Amino acid sequence: MVIQRPKGTQDIIPGTIKRWHFLETQIRKICSEFGYQEIRTPIFEATELFQRGVGETTDIVNKEMYTFLDKGQRSITLRPEGTASVCRAYVENKFYAQPQPVKLYYLGPMFRYENTQAGRYRQFHQFGAEVLGAQDPLVDAEVIHLIWEFYRRIGLKGLEVHLNSVGCPVCRTEQRSQLQYYLQERKSDLCLDCQDRFEKNPMRILDCKNKGCQALTVDVPTTLDTLCEECKEHFAKVQQALRDCGIEYRINPKMVRGLDYYQRTAFEVMAEGIGAQSAICGGGRYDGLVEEIGGPSTPGIGFAMGIERILAVLDKQKVAIDNDQENKVLIAALGAQARQEGFKILSELRQDGVSALMDLMGRGLKSQMKYADREGVRYVLILGDEELAKDAIIVRDMRLGDQSEISRGAIKKYLLKNMKNSKYLL
Ligand code: AMP
Repeated sequence: MVIQRPKGTQDIIPGTIKRWHFLETQIRKICSEFGYQEIRTPIFEATELFQRGVGETTDIVNKEMYTFLDKGQRSITLRPEGTASVCRAYVENKFYAQPQPVKLYYLGPMFRYENTQAGRYRQFHQFGAEVLGAQDPLVDAEVIHLIWEFYRRIGLKGLEVHLNSVGCPVCRTEQRSQLQYYLQERKSDLCLDCQDRFEKNPMRILDCKNKGCQALTVDVPTTLDTLCEECKEHFAKVQQALRDCGIEYRINPKMVRGLDYYQRTAFEVMAEGIGAQSAICGGGRYDGLVEEIGGPSTPGIGFAMGIERILAVLDKQKVAIDNDQENKVLIAALGAQARQEGFKILSELRQDGVSALMDLMGRGLKSQMKYADREGVRYVLILGDEELAKDAIIVRDMRLGDQSEISRGAIKKYLLKNMKNSKYLL
């Protein structure tokens, strides 16, 4: 029997990898421009990190973690998200002793044992960024601006930023009692999980995927109804700063996010047309998290976005991705001597940084042209016995469909003149 990949995982194959590279390049570029540095944390961590960091009453910790005992009987978990690990690294590497804030980003696979469906996988990839050590509402706006600008640059349209404030521990006490008061009489109609949440963490009921629970919470008091004065002021400043950088947002007072660590600002970005799993990004402020996992009291804010879902929106919106085909050259050499000379030209072009290929299967000209088409080549350099004798080469422009003969020594100059971004050749 053929062995198949595990449910909820995907092979990212050469046909699609260009789109990943495109996103990865854009991610690194924008993060560097906004002053974020990359961090790479382990893919597995002590289970306790997520129990404490993500929260015992969340679906992620309760139902979705890939947890196992290693051979030393330690409980290990494949990371279901990136924030807890970044905060652990911040503490463990004593980043709190450096000038603040510390601005970090990450990119890599996450693992959740979820019910798989379109847009919901068991291994998926997130790009996330975190700012640690700064409480200013401008930081919240900067983080949302990074997301907004990133989507603008990659060409996504029709997105909606949902914004909320879930308050601080002071507001939570009030929130908790108002929620419990409201739901008291309907408690027995809640799902079993929510009946449990009712005592432990009633705010999580707002996040329940069960339709019955959702119906029961249509008119519940929202987190915005119970904000303390400081949280209200913070929220107002975040909104002002978002307006100042031209970001459109919608207040969604029911959005509480599925992780326990959020305080104050919480946000999600939704995209149309990719089905039920329309959230392409989520994040918020988590001022208590670093302390929760054993570090000094440190404010923090961040987000994570799912790469697979961004790719789905790019596909849906038919966004063209510039993958530099303008700069590809194929050398079509015919005959043993031409192949030898062709290989020399190939290596010269490569030394000049030109993306160049040569047929290695000894195919005829027609098949080589097909190969060039398949590879998205812009220029084919044709070299046969006749051209060899004249010390010349035929250059065929695949996009314009015309060709001309130039001397062997003029190849570099020709490409330099005609190629897009010909600085690569200098
Ligand atoms: P979260 O860490 O749950 O806030 O998720 C942040 C983002 O990661 C979401 O908005 C999605 O774009 C993406 N995401 C979360 N879970 C999955 C999953 N199981 N499969 C694919 N993408 C996911």
